[in-house]
Amino acid sequence: MRKRKKGNAGKSSVSFKETVQLSLRGFRVWWGENPELLLSVLICGVVCALTPYVDIWLLARLVDEIAGERDSHLLTVYVLALMSTSGVLSLLCAGLTRWKNVQLACLWHTQNNMFMKKLLSMDFADMDDGHVQELRSRIWQNTDSGGWGLYKLIYSFEAIISSVMSMISAILLTASLFILPVTAGNGRLMILNHPVFILLIIALMFAVTFVAPLLSVKAGSYWVKYADENQLGNRLFGFWLGSLGNDRAKALDVRIYRQDVLSRSNLKKYNPFIPTSKLAKAARGPMGGYQALSGAVSQIFVGVAYIFVALKALGGAFGVGRVVQYVSAIIALSGGLSMLIETLGDLRNNTSFLRTVFEFLDMPNKMEQGDMSVSQNGDMEYDFERRAHSNYESGSTLAGKGYNIEFRNVSFKYPGQEDYALRNVSMTFHAGQRLAVVGTNGSGKTTFIKLLCRLYDPAEGEILLNGIDIRKYNYHEYMQLFSVVFQDFKLLSFELGQNVAGSMNVDSDKAVQCLRKAGFGIRLDKLTHGLSTVIYKEFDGEGVDISGGEAQKIALARALYKDAPFIILDEPTAALDPIAEFEVYSSMNQMIGEKSAVFISHRLSSCRFCHDIVVFHEGRVVQRGSHDALVSDESGMYYRLWNAQAQYYEVKDL
Ligand code: ADP
Repeated sequence: MRKRKKGNAGKSSVSFKETVQLSLRGFRVWWGENPELLLSVLICGVVCALTPYVDIWLLARLVDEIAGERDSHLLTVYVLALMSTSGVLSLLCAGLTRWKNVQLACLWHTQNNMFMKKLLSMDFADMDDGHVQELRSRIWQNTDSGGWGLYKLIYSFEAIISSVMSMISAILLTASLFILPVTAGNGRLMILNHPVFILLIIALMFAVTFVAPLLSVKAGSYWVKYADENQLGNRLFGFWLGSLGNDRAKALDVRIYRQDVLSRSNLKKYNPFIPTSKLAKAARGPMGGYQALSGAVSQIFVGVAYIFVALKALGGAFGVGRVVQYVSAIIALSGGLSMLIETLGDLRNNTSFLRTVFEFLDMPNKMEQGDMSVSQNGDMEYDFERRAHSNYESGSTLAGKGYNIEFRNVSFKYPGQEDYALRNVSMTFHAGQRLAVVGTNGSGKTTFIKLLCRLYDPAEGEILLNGIDIRKYNYHEYMQLFSVVFQDFKLLSFELGQNVAGSMNVDSDKAVQCLRKAGFGIRLDKLTHGLSTVIYKEFDGEGVDISGGEAQKIALARALYKDAPFIILDEPTAALDPIAEFEVYSSMNQMIGEKSAVFISHRLSSCRFCHDIVVFHEGRVVQRGSHDALVSDESGMYYRLWNAQAQYYEVKDL
């Protein structure tokens, strides 16, 4: 495994402004997704943070009274107040915590839902792009390994609320510590009343309080430093745990080639959670050192504060009740300030992770710029409304006139690739026509279809639908024009009818007709639950397993059900032998009536029924004509390929 490039933007510097901007943006994202989440954290944080300080204040009054006048009436009031406020606030805090925890439990789901929406709406070209996949993976790994990214904001928000409330309460409770003077006649202790001394003590406390969390933030920065290694290890672990053992498709190779041993060795090499990993070494070295130092410095703060309180009490500045109050408040103040600084440090460390999140979320949808309705083009009479409610029996919703496609000098490279997958392709394709696209593997056939269906846009040249660049049309309407069955089509483990309709609302008659036309009729009659039969067993133990050939028939039925004006078969039959493929293609040719159709195959024999065959070679269109015309041109590519492949077909079958 090659060493990967540095992935996280965390290596470049982070400004305070950027931290604030990205964090606020992150909060707005959460607010947009689930305002209740932020409200619950805010309200719960305020109420629960205040609760202990009310107790401390009342307890201090009670202790003072016990040590002083011992007024039974006042004692009763303090005890009752302490019990009731403590009880009510604790109850309130428990209820609010429950509310908050329910919201927090949905965090993972909410975040992934947000990313899933983005993935499903982004341009197909971007989904396919290596950089996008890397971004996606990094976001998941960052969340998984250290809760970095949008997650961190929620927990930081919680910490900020709690620490600010603690500090405000603690400052209110400690203010009098510095004001109440040591009583006269206490010798050297009188120095504690001197303003310079008081300022010095406050400065020392602040200095120590700042140093401790800064050291802790420094320790935390090692997580950022080793984020790439952690992610790789985490991914390998995820692969080991989630995919290698569970995936039936991998099961054979895993056993035969001992891929488990190979995976385990790689995992061992990059695992961040073993004693020899960089993170573990840092934890034993500088990372652990900074953390320990941070703890020690915090204790110095507490020590200084205790001595100050004790000396003032000794000098008669206040009684035992206030000692209790100050000691508790100072510890709380120190804890609150530490938590705040640590959280701000965390937010700073989190900035680079947020950059990754927003780079992903901000990817523009370049495909969706056009707004012309397909039906606006007067030459076409495809009725989207009617199609949605069409009766399949009545035939196509297409009225006579239709769609003419033209590729004009189209060239295309896949993202990040040097070589052109298509080069200068020019051709026209008329409504109702049957076109066969043939050529060897890698000659550009599927790319041609992907451009036609606007899964990608051409790098050069243009594709016209009835004379207008397809980029000008409304993207979703344009996509409705095509039913494509790709080689690696996918069915989902839902009901058969839903698979065919691509919806929960299934027109049963239409679905059955399409399945029968696609050759699935006999099998359908044997299914006890008919269209309601769940295929595969992913979500239903009673689901039925179907063979590759049956799946293919369902995929064809799905294409027919969509009832789009263009049907494209991109070698969904590649698993069949050439003769069976020819039969499927020929019967599809009968089935699709007056629609336009494109048949793709690297096997020339499959498409010989088409009168219009286009031959692709190395991304270019090298020939076009009928089978008879092409096969008689002995200098042409078609002739060479035909003769090269002929040995695989039985002469009697051709
Ligand atoms: P065919 O359908 O004729 O087998 P394709 O259109 O799939 O050929 O591929 C044409 C060329 O583009 C090949 O060189 C192939 O390797 C390349 N290619 C196909 N898909 C991708 C992709 N997603 N990313 C990069 N290159 C691709």
